[in-house]
Amino acid sequence: MIRYECDRCGARMTPNDARRYIVKLEIYAAAGHVDLDAEGEDDVAGALSDVVRALATADPDEVEDQTYRSFRFDVCNDCRIALLADPLAR
Ligand SMILES: [Zn+2]
Repeated sequence: MIRYECDRCGARMTPNDARRYIVKLEIYAAAGHVDLDAEGEDDVAGALSDVVRALATADPDEVEDQTYRSFRFDVCNDCRIALLADPLAR
């Protein structure tokens, strides 16, 4: 039998526990559209070359951290209530 623990407080839960909730968290770069035409064709090629060169030597985990990460947590009902009241723990 699979055992679940609240990832926030450690409370024990069962797989079909009505007090078990799933929290999904995504963090990704907010940068949107980049207007390459404004830089001129030569600058675009140079800028892309710089990006490719930087990615070639970058730590993949660091690149992932800077662009997109997702998390999934199991939480109990008490922690669900606490997260809804203050999701960013301010
Ligand atoms: Zn909890």
